[in-house]
Amino acid sequence: MKRRQMTAQRGIVQDGPAGRRIGKRCEGGTRLLGLLGLGLVLMARAAEPSFRPHAAMRPLPLGSVGWTDGFWAQRFELCRTQTVPALDRILSSTNYSHFWRNFEIAAGVAEGPNRGAPFNDGECYKWLEAAVALLAVRPDAALAQRVEEVIENIRAAQAPSGYLHTRIQIRARQGPAQAVPFADRFQFELYNLGHLMTAAAVHYQVTGRTSLLWVAQRAAACLEGVLTNPPPEAVRRPVCPSHFMGLLDLYRATGEERWLALARNCFEVRRTVEDGGDDNQDRLPFDQHAEALGHAVRANYLYAGAADLYLETGERALLTPLLRVWSNIVEKKLYLTGGCGALYDGASPDGARDQDRISRVHQAYGRNYQLPQLTAHCETCANIGWALWNWRMLLATGDIRFADALEQVLYNSILSGLSLDGTNFFYTNPLRVTEPLPLELRWPRTRVPFLGSFCCPPNLARVIAVSPAWAVAVSDRTVWLILYGSNVMRVREAELEELVLRQETEYPWSGRIRLVVEQAPSNALTLRLRIPA
Ligand SMILES: [Zn+2]
Repeated sequence: MKRRQMTAQRGIVQDGPAGRRIGKRCEGGTRLLGLLGLGLVLMARAAEPSFRPHAAMRPLPLGSVGWTDGFWAQRFELCRTQTVPALDRILSSTNYSHFWRNFEIAAGVAEGPNRGAPFNDGECYKWLEAAVALLAVRPDAALAQRVEEVIENIRAAQAPSGYLHTRIQIRARQGPAQAVPFADRFQFELYNLGHLMTAAAVHYQVTGRTSLLWVAQRAAACLEGVLTNPPPEAVRRPVCPSHFMGLLDLYRATGEERWLALARNCFEVRRTVEDGGDDNQDRLPFDQHAEALGHAVRANYLYAGAADLYLETGERALLTPLLRVWSNIVEKKLYLTGGCGALYDGASPDGARDQDRISRVHQAYGRNYQLPQLTAHCETCANIGWALWNWRMLLATGDIRFADALEQVLYNSILSGLSLDGTNFFYTNPLRVTEPLPLELRWPRTRVPFLGSFCCPPNLARVIAVSPAWAVAVSDRTVWLILYGSNVMRVREAELEELVLRQETEYPWSGRIRLVVEQAPSNALTLRLRIPA
């Protein structure tokens, strides 16, 4: 309610009519048990009733659930007290690379060259998302101030056109002018922009502030202008396409149909490309995808984006390839840990008659059942992409298989990327490590504070920070418990009635779970509990 009042003040249409019934009734959930006429009532208003009209269930806003004790509370607290501060030190320093410094140089308030990977801007946005998601559960004045500082840094770097990519901006200013926006997809512009949009949506939802939302909308408008016919390659077939999810987050934060249309248009442009390679999933048109191929982060982000778009459009042609590829992964290409993307390097399509069609793939899905243990790649970001995809498939279908897959990878091949002290990271997550290994591998086989490709650490931080939101979802008159862990969840309904549910458990060490209804609305409610596979 507080949020809707703020929204009205700003004149941004965000929420639909209170209590409006949009979502389909939950009829999936093969192993979800309807519990048990508690005599409660929940009008079960979803957090965002006018969004995700084709979802079987909808998420609650960040801050609705807070871990209170046990396994997840420990992970969350570690993230808050160790990981996010450690990442801030690295992003703020220039010891390893340039992160925030690149923004300062782009803004003209510091001197120096662009330094670091082309996706370093995106890592800053992921950190920001993590920090804000922590604030949603646990207020922290110092962290909140730090968040506003870096947002000012971002805002200052944005070009008048709305374009924001520090590497290109700095190079265009300093060098012979070969640095051209959207000319090269390996500059990762859309990856960075997607994370900017998601961070902005989260920041607005949690704080009510529009500072970063404003930056993200200007950047989206810039992208909108680029999406003319024909759009450049960087837009037609971007790598690690986080922008589908980002644009949809922006749409749901602002209610601006324009960003939904842009997400659809960007996806249509991407959907029809072919004659590329399997490393970027653009050898075959999207609708023909049936097997997971190529770079696993790129694949999983693409499919997560497509699933997110399905939640808004309900287009079956989006869901059909997703279900095919998902089954291929689960049946033939997934480790017991939920890790995915088995190969450091490979070639695809495998065994093609015409050898000219074969190209290199890297950090990639391999052949069916090709799951090496010592050299398992299983990049933390690929595993996170798999979790993001499964969360959206769960929302789309209500089919509990997707929750099982989410839980499997979360415990076993996402958290493995983080040390128990919260400040050292894996890039790859092998199933087995021996010393010595009779070959040299590209990535460290112990956890380290910094990785040359620093995508995984802030991605881990944001996943842990948003993990409370994966504990529950809602549909009409139904609350679905998805991930277990001691927590308190507050589900608000239209007339300010509120369900407050406290969960006490030692899960995953014990399957015993106690639910305490601390505050009940006055009408009936269905509570559905997942029985973990
Ligand atoms: Zn990564």
